[in-house]
Amino acid sequence: MGCVFCRIVSKEAPARMVYEDEAFVAFHDIRPKAPVHVLVVPKVHVATLSDYPDTEEGERALGALFRTANRVARTLGLRGYRLTVNVGEEGGQEVFHVHVHIMGWPR
Ligand code: 5GP
Ligand code: ZN
Repeated sequence: MGCVFCRIVSKEAPARMVYEDEAFVAFHDIRPKAPVHVLVVPKVHVATLSDYPDTEEGERALGALFRTANRVARTLGLRGYRLTVNVGEEGGQEVFHVHVHIMGWPR
């Protein structure tokens, strides 16, 4: 029951955390699809990326999400990485709490 990423944010469910600040957490994906696979998750529950409004507030939220994903990726010390967001069931989204995938290759 409930949202698995909200439970990880609130520490009710375990995760291999790599980053936390007041607005975001980042943790290793449980089924990695790259040598390094980390998920960057806003603490506030928003179901899917397309729910962010097309407003300055939405722009700030998107900017903060990608700024944080880039920051986390840098701290992981990767040679290169991909940032992916799956949006909607047809877009491959399985967990309906916004997240950016960092899929990377270590040095
Ligand atoms: P999506 O397909 O929604 O973009 O990606 C969801 C990702 O979350 C998948 O890569 C899946 O392996 C990961 N995932 C699902 N449940 C859990 C969990 O309980 N813990 C962690 N660490 N990752 C999860
Ligand atoms: Zn949630």
